[in-house]
Amino acid sequence: MSALLEVDSLVRHYPVRIPGGLFGQPATLRAVDGVSFAVSPGKTLGLVGESGCGKSTTAKLVLGLLPPTAGAVRFEGGHVPARRNAEWRALRQRMQMVYQDPLGALDRRLPVVAQVMEPLTVFKIGTPAERREKARDLMAAVGLTPHLFERFPHELSGGQRQRVVLARALILEPSLLVCDEPISALDVSIQAQVINLLLDLQDRFGVAFLFISHDLKVVRQVSHEVAVMYLGRIVEQGEPEKLFHEPAHPYTKALVSAIPSPWRQEGYERIVLQGDPPNPVQVPSGCAFHPRCAYATAACREVRPVLADIGDGRKAACHLLSPIASA
Ligand code: SF4
Repeated sequence: MSALLEVDSLVRHYPVRIPGGLFGQPATLRAVDGVSFAVSPGKTLGLVGESGCGKSTTAKLVLGLLPPTAGAVRFEGGHVPARRNAEWRALRQRMQMVYQDPLGALDRRLPVVAQVMEPLTVFKIGTPAERREKARDLMAAVGLTPHLFERFPHELSGGQRQRVVLARALILEPSLLVCDEPISALDVSIQAQVINLLLDLQDRFGVAFLFISHDLKVVRQVSHEVAVMYLGRIVEQGEPEKLFHEPAHPYTKALVSAIPSPWRQEGYERIVLQGDPPNPVQVPSGCAFHPRCAYATAACREVRPVLADIGDGRKAACHLLSPIASA
């Protein structure tokens, strides 16, 4: 099956200044540092990692909301333009974003049904009556009852607002939804409902997801493939069950061990990572994970591992798992 979305060696660096001298020293913030992956039609790739690892920047690069420093994004066989031109706007009909905070994503002054039909108005699709009917159908499909359609966002619960956001994202019939932490702002009690809704929508509409989350157990539930990011790079990738049952990379092992019981895999004691949280301005030499890795050797401090096949359809970037080859 050919890929719907192909991300090839994507890089996003920012010039910054760090303390030192009168005006500070020039430095580079490596938000995304050579990320490659593919998403098949109707499937879900889960992108997981700690806060600040580059997941959300990757999402913006995929959607063309940020220009890459290097690398390319192909969607439905064509390049995603680096500039917001007419071609980019046409492409955005087919790839939509679901944000973390549904209240922030909605206009507090408009009834929610008007917001769901708004993309049809922007792209001049259908008559006003047809737009309203399609919006109402889709709102029903995401589990909203008709008495909520004319309400304002602040009159709805967090879960209902996220359903509105999903209905609006789906109204242009996209083939890809980029979901950036779509349930982390919701109460735990309704997170499971929204996850089940996402799975149901994928079944019914055949839409693919790039699902971004820091929550490994959620990513495991929704993904056909999982990529683990650390400091702007993918360090392990594979099918969720294999990755969760036998994590290969030391960082993935630590993430899996941190899943709270009763979801944690049996036999995994908690691994508490040592050292400071990652700083994308001062990326350590060699393997970026080496200051926090219990298995680090001298070679790990000097040679950056590449993401390589480790068998069983999986990839990892670790000298313990594949012969040393510098990136
Ligand atoms: Fe640890 Fe070395 Fe593997 Fe990096 S390359 S994860 S430091 S063992």
